[in-house]
Amino acid sequence: MDSIQQLNDATKVFLEQQPKKEQIELLRKVIAYHEKRYYIEDDPIITDREYDILYNKLRKIEEENPELITPASPTQRVGGGIGGDFPPVKHLAPMLSLDNAYTEEDLLNFDATVKKLCAIGAESNVVYSVEPKFDGGSIALVYDQNNLVRAATRGNGELGEDITLNARILPSVPLHVNFEALGLNIVELRGEAIIRKDKFEELNKQRSLDGAILYANPRNAATGGLRTKDPNETRKRQIEVFVYQVAYAVDSSGTEVVGNSHFENIETLGKLGFKIPHQEKKLCQNIQEVIDFIQKWDAQRDQYAYEIDGMVVKVDEIALQKVCGFTSHHPRWATAFKFKAKQATSTLLNVEYQVGKVGSITPVAKIQPVYLAGVTVSSISLHNEEFIRSKDLKIGDTIVVERAGDVIPYIVKSIADVRNGQEKAIEFPQICPVNHTDTEVRLIKEEGESAWRCPECVCGAQDLQRLIFHVSKEAMDIDGFGKSYVEKFYSLGWIKDFSDVYQLDYTLISQLEGFGQKSADNLKSSIDKAKKNPIHRLLHSLSIHHLGKRASKIIAQEISHVLELTSWDLARYTALKDIGPVVAENVIQWFSKEANVQMLKRMEAHGVNMQQTEDDKPLISATSGALLGKSILFTGTLLKMGRKEAEELASKQGAKILSAVSSNLNILVVGEKAGSKLKKAESLGTVEIWNEDQFIEVVS
Ligand code: AMP
Repeated sequence: MDSIQQLNDATKVFLEQQPKKEQIELLRKVIAYHEKRYYIEDDPIITDREYDILYNKLRKIEEENPELITPASPTQRVGGGIGGDFPPVKHLAPMLSLDNAYTEEDLLNFDATVKKLCAIGAESNVVYSVEPKFDGGSIALVYDQNNLVRAATRGNGELGEDITLNARILPSVPLHVNFEALGLNIVELRGEAIIRKDKFEELNKQRSLDGAILYANPRNAATGGLRTKDPNETRKRQIEVFVYQVAYAVDSSGTEVVGNSHFENIETLGKLGFKIPHQEKKLCQNIQEVIDFIQKWDAQRDQYAYEIDGMVVKVDEIALQKVCGFTSHHPRWATAFKFKAKQATSTLLNVEYQVGKVGSITPVAKIQPVYLAGVTVSSISLHNEEFIRSKDLKIGDTIVVERAGDVIPYIVKSIADVRNGQEKAIEFPQICPVNHTDTEVRLIKEEGESAWRCPECVCGAQDLQRLIFHVSKEAMDIDGFGKSYVEKFYSLGWIKDFSDVYQLDYTLISQLEGFGQKSADNLKSSIDKAKKNPIHRLLHSLSIHHLGKRASKIIAQEISHVLELTSWDLARYTALKDIGPVVAENVIQWFSKEANVQMLKRMEAHGVNMQQTEDDKPLISATSGALLGKSILFTGTLLKMGRKEAEELASKQGAKILSAVSSNLNILVVGEKAGSKLKKAESLGTVEIWNEDQFIEVVS
């Protein structure tokens, strides 16, 4: 019974029916299993929140039945384990867990408990230091007479694993620090090893190119990186260490030196050269300020460069911390407010198939609904057949689902360990799964494409998708013309192709249930506005396979009227920069069909613009601007904007964009990890070298 399935409702009921002793034993076994997966194997199969629920349940039963507590219970030590590959070392002060808070009420209770412990009146305020709960791996750093002598993982809290060699590689871990100036002889600091989200993505991109298995998340990549046997591998993962606690500090006589305020201690560490949270932390004068600050971070955490799973609230005054003390599990002067889980486990119930506007078949997983970071998720795109294979998904599987910053949920993995043999393989269809007419259409997969496609739609499913796309923001941008309107008008037979959109009967629309004169009028004015769109929007809205936004713009620059394309041949298209033969063939084919040409003519008759507009014409380089007459080149990774955006900004200011360093280059803008271009520019000696901020200052 040592699997995730202990968490389902039936098991919970079963558990609660057992005598307390059996409940405790079962919970201990399950918790031990999940701790091993998390700490030893770096491959957790339940979320932190789910683990906390199990752990808190065990703790509660033990509290109510203290005679059943044994030293081997997970509650009698802090989480973690010793892997065996690294020598164990004893921490100078135990490395504990944190107690958790999930609601505002929990925080108010925490504040009340602190006041009680410190004999402070309920009407007085306790000052708290609040900082992010970095979601990486914890690390303890010991400095002896200013030198880094040891680094260790948390391990089981008493004993950690000695990972000094790996830690010495990390640029954010100073090897020599002037602690003596503060009268400190031996210091143990606590910190979190973490990988920036964008660097993590780069790491995985590279792994994907190398054909390696992708890391599940930045935390696993960081904790794994601390524990590799090859320090070079640690270096490659670009791990950074934030320090968040002075755990132990003594002067040369061995007397403890504690300082007055936690917040000040962290600031001092920052001045000494450690990486610390800056505007991410706050000294809050009372618990209400704590709640407000946490709410602010909950709302903005997706934009933060690092993964955080909550905020840690610490009593700021060290003297008060001493009064609060510790349990064997956590300090009583701190609590971790955990943000809503972004991961959860669920069951894959079924796979349905949707047909897209160019016939691509997208498999969609129907899952047991789960509540995830504020919404209930029951459907998740599986992208294509290859995705299903790479995740080894089967119907009936227990799956881990995640909702990351971009709000689109996705399946992280299936958990093969808990299969019971009833799971069914997913058979990708060979004929169009949406088509219910008598004509069978075999799906095709073109070379270089990942999706199966229905090449010749006989059932109308693609027409509907094309209409939905045609009116969407991406394409003709008809404000207020949502998917449900398209479906309604389509089902009524009012719109069969694009031309019908421009000859709707607004009197009939105003009489539809749920409509009215006002909504019909609004729709009319949005459609009238869209009729004047530039032709690059119109071209893109036609859903020609491979003809994206950019290619539509390139083609629109070259024509004065859309119907000119009926006479364009392959050579005309491929002579254009960035238009390849595949897109060219598709556009040629589309314009060779008489029905399509007739449809465009009808659209024109209904007032849709087919002539090149100012917006379609090529950008003429600026004739003035802060960079007029200068040539510029960007190298390395820009942090505040994309490369394209930067180039556009520069050309708007009159600059000419170059693609290589030469004696013609005036300015080189250098992002992160700039390489040979920077070296070459430096050696020329004639190129001005700017960082991203200097560039932004000039162009803004
Ligand atoms: P938990 O493992 O959930 O009990 O939480 C304790 C862990 O949170 C510590 O061992 C640290 O690795 C981590 N942590 C991340 N940020 C902080 C922070 N600002 N203060 C204390 N612990 C933190």
